[in-house]
Amino acid sequence: MKSFFFVPNPLSKPKHTPPGEADGAGALSALEAESARRRLDFVLNTIHEGVLAADAGLTLQAANPQARNLFGIAPSFCLGRGGKSVSLLEATRSTGLEALALEALAQGAALAKEMKFYSAGAERHFLVSAAPFAGSDDERWALALVFEERTRLRTLERVRKDFAANVSHELRTPIQVVKGFAETLLESPLADAARQGIEIILKNALSMEALTADLLCLMALEEGGAPPFGGAEETPVRPLLEEALAAVEMPAQDKGITLSLACPAELSAFLYRRLMIRGVANLLDNAVKYSPPGSRVRLAAVQEAERLVITVQDQGIGIPAQHLPRIFERFYRVGSGRCRGQGGAGLGLAIVRHIAQVHHGAAAAESHAGEGSVFTLWVPVRGSGAPPPAGL
Ligand code: ADP
Repeated sequence: MKSFFFVPNPLSKPKHTPPGEADGAGALSALEAESARRRLDFVLNTIHEGVLAADAGLTLQAANPQARNLFGIAPSFCLGRGGKSVSLLEATRSTGLEALALEALAQGAALAKEMKFYSAGAERHFLVSAAPFAGSDDERWALALVFEERTRLRTLERVRKDFAANVSHELRTPIQVVKGFAETLLESPLADAARQGIEIILKNALSMEALTADLLCLMALEEGGAPPFGGAEETPVRPLLEEALAAVEMPAQDKGITLSLACPAELSAFLYRRLMIRGVANLLDNAVKYSPPGSRVRLAAVQEAERLVITVQDQGIGIPAQHLPRIFERFYRVGSGRCRGQGGAGLGLAIVRHIAQVHHGAAAAESHAGEGSVFTLWVPVRGSGAPPPAGL
């Protein structure tokens, strides 16, 4: 088995022994060191992950076979065996990797990042961890880079996304046909039973239309960020929030829920307007759906330091603590029996989270079962660069 180490391994260096004192202890520790080196070699040669090690100047010191394969590092690069020294950049041809390594060395802390590399003509995805050797007293050993392959995961994700996108596209036409015929039929004179039946058909066609639209929106956000939804620009916030409120006025009226808005007239931020309306409307829609008749839903926006902070507060059924960490996941729903017939497919909050992310912000929820909920959406007012608010 090829050795992991290019350079004479510091572990295998014989201990300095004063002349004439070639005692048994020295010989034993040299043996122990050699055995430790073999064990380490064995581990590094057999694990799935690729491993590179470099000195503080990012000259490559070691590479296990997996890393050599990935980057096509020739054995002639081996140091200490008459080969030439090579920098991390020369060996991997990745400026991103070099930047990650420098950042980890500068911070003196381990960093991890998803990266892709081209190896033998194929795109491969890795989670790369860059870890400075803590307390190393040998300057040749400053940094280790570990490459954990994620290609299969990314491929599966791609397949899942393509499948969902294709199904959504294919369903759009039949849904439009069902909806169109149902609407036309409802305009003609019908017996009560037939009318009721067709109303149910129409209602379900509308839910499916909303579901496919949500899926396509989510996919577009995941795929290309915000661009499919128009450009970002300096946007007055209050009119935007009024538009989001208008979208839920009818269902709120139907339930006798009072909507209120608190937002300074002069507040403005760098936003994708259509997207932000959609995000706030999703939160308001949930607040109305999951609240009892006669309650209040409050929408508010303020600027805190460099952040626009939008909150939607309701007096509804709340969310039990164990569900809170997962409600922004797609298709995640809290117990289907809670709000019979009112919930959607569990995509609304996933869309909100993505909308926050394309604005370089985030979304969060606070809630206690039976005591209502507060959803917060924050984004940097100038488009990027503001740290999250305390507690988010
Ligand atoms: P859905 O389409 O089911 O409303 P969402 O992604 O919008 O999906 O929300 C996920 C789940 O979070 C919902 O199924 C609901 O149980 C819970 N939820 C969201 N907003 C609220 C709220 N304001 N009050 C209570 N529960 C909520």
